[in-house]
Amino acid sequence: MIVDAYLPAAQAQAIALLTRGDLVAIPTETVYGLAADASQATAVAKIFALKQRPTSNPLIVHIGSMAQLNDWAVHVPHLAYRLAAAFWPGPMTLILKKAPWVPRCVTAGQETIALRIPNHPAALALLKQFNGGVAAPSANLYTQLSPTTAQHVEHSLGSELLILDGGPAQIGIESTIIDCSSGEVSILRPGMLSAEMISTVLGQRVNYHAASEIKRPGSHYLHYAPQADCQLLTHERLATEWSVMDLATTGFITYSCDIAWSSAAKVQRLSSHPAEYARDLYRALHHLDQQRCARILVELPPTTVAWYAVHERLHKAAGLSLG
Ligand code: AMP
Ligand code: MG
Repeated sequence: MIVDAYLPAAQAQAIALLTRGDLVAIPTETVYGLAADASQATAVAKIFALKQRPTSNPLIVHIGSMAQLNDWAVHVPHLAYRLAAAFWPGPMTLILKKAPWVPRCVTAGQETIALRIPNHPAALALLKQFNGGVAAPSANLYTQLSPTTAQHVEHSLGSELLILDGGPAQIGIESTIIDCSSGEVSILRPGMLSAEMISTVLGQRVNYHAASEIKRPGSHYLHYAPQADCQLLTHERLATEWSVMDLATTGFITYSCDIAWSSAAKVQRLSSHPAEYARDLYRALHHLDQQRCARILVELPPTTVAWYAVHERLHKAAGLSLG
């Protein structure tokens, strides 16, 4: 059931469900999350069951304030506080050493925990009132596309779930994950918070981590895949090949405006600005999936650093690795 996330009665119902160990879907600025009280192992187990997510994949715990950081993490390094001060609430997840009491299922048995303060007014209000930690992976079946609207959640997980509708997600792709749990800081998953922004705050260069030993479901190919067969093509290839494609079953995602075939029925034209493109990308993929496209052809966006996270998600949607 979809309810307005800003209604006090909806928030109260969500808190009651979380408190008794049940699930609720919540809006965040990245994607919608499937939330459970992270302190209750039985509640967290329901997330894995509903999503059909392997229990070896750890979850991000969402908190409502910096004051809660030390409830969940220990030996927090100074630079993690600097990142938190600069970017929380926001689309940044920090990997830190976990507090001993944290249930094993949350961290998949690892000694580290992923923490984030989301920047969504309704989510923040809920988290502050709940005053605990909420484990919340994306509210979709495992390997499916992340939801950026309440309707996407209902489509994937059904209408029995209480879904707080906080409007379309404004960032639109998953958070940047930064590992601060060892001496060296590294980015485990790119997001709209870029390596440059992180490096500037820390006054040191921060790199993407290629082959991590830490288990990350987001690192599996096809993790963010639409149902349709998704292919990435250059503008030139699209412009020359579109005419031989079956327009009834082919969807297109473009960002440039001068494409002659843009009158084809199933075209989602996104912004040429990376933040706006990211915000709308999953919505466009969901939309083309719902139009039952057999294949989705995506015009490759520019390869500048501002597009890095978008590229990573597009490559995952296409089942490719980003070389
Ligand atoms: P999702 O919630 O599906 O977007 O995925 C959460 C992301 O955070 C995944 O890539 C997880 O593997 C990652 N993550 C969660 N907990 C940890 C942890 N303790 N160490 C490393 N990565 C983690
Ligand atoms: Mg996910």
